[in-house]
Amino acid sequence: MTTAQERRTNDELKALAEQAGRDLEDASALEILQWAVDTFGSGFCVTSSMEDAVVAHLASRARKGDAVVDVVFLDTGYHFEETIGTRDAVEAVMDVNVITLTPRQTVAEQDAEYGAKLHDRDPDLCCKLRKVQPLEEGLKGYRAWATGLRRDESPTRANTPVVGWDEKRQKVKISPIARWTQEDVDAYVAEHGVLTNPLLMDGYASIGCAPCTRRVLAGEDARAGRWAGRAKTECGLHG
Ligand code: SF4
Repeated sequence: MTTAQERRTNDELKALAEQAGRDLEDASALEILQWAVDTFGSGFCVTSSMEDAVVAHLASRARKGDAVVDVVFLDTGYHFEETIGTRDAVEAVMDVNVITLTPRQTVAEQDAEYGAKLHDRDPDLCCKLRKVQPLEEGLKGYRAWATGLRRDESPTRANTPVVGWDEKRQKVKISPIARWTQEDVDAYVAEHGVLTNPLLMDGYASIGCAPCTRRVLAGEDARAGRWAGRAKTECGLHG
C-alpha cells in the first residue's frame, strides 16, 4: 500500500518543503525532525558525518513507536579511525538504524584506475567518486533527508533553510539545527551526554576525510581545516 508521501509528485513535495521551511523556521530542532518523521515515515533518513551524534540523537527522540530512523553514514575509506569508532558507538548505543554507504571502488581500486592520492590532484573527482555518487545511490529510496548543516559554520551555509528543496536530487532536505550555534551544540551534547568524535577535543572543528582535514587555528571558521590551501570548501554533497 502506498502512503500519502509516496504518492506526492516532486512539484507537490517542493511546495510542501518550501511551505514547511517558512512554517518551521522558528520551531525547535526536535519539532522539525518530528514533522519529518510524521510526514515521510520510512521515506526519511538522517545523514551523519559522525563528527558528533547530535542529529542522530535528535532523530532517536523523534522516532514514532517501534519505527527507528535510518542514519546514513558515508564511509569513504579515508576516515580517521576516531570517526569510524564514533559510527560504531552510535550503532551500539542509539535507538537509530545506522546504514553505512561505501563507494563503488575501494581506495586501492581507485588508486589503480586514477593513480594514488587523487584527493591531492583532483579532490572534486575524488569527492564525486567517494561521496557524491554513493550518497546519490543511497538516497534513492528516500523522499526526504536531514543533515547537520548550520548557518554559522561558514559563509557558504549562512542561508541554509531548516526545510528546503534539494533541486539536484529532487528531495526534501531538512537541516534541523541550521539555526544553532556551536554553543547550542555544546549545550545539547552536555545536557544529553551525546557521543562526539574524540578529534573535536584535539583541535579539529570540522571533521572529514583524514587527507583533507587539519586542525583549525584560533580565529578561523569551523570549516577552515577542510581542504586547507586548496580552492575547495564543499564536497559537493550540499551544492
Ligand atoms: Fe577524497 Fe578528500 Fe573528498 Fe575524502 S574529502 S572524498 S579524501 S577529496
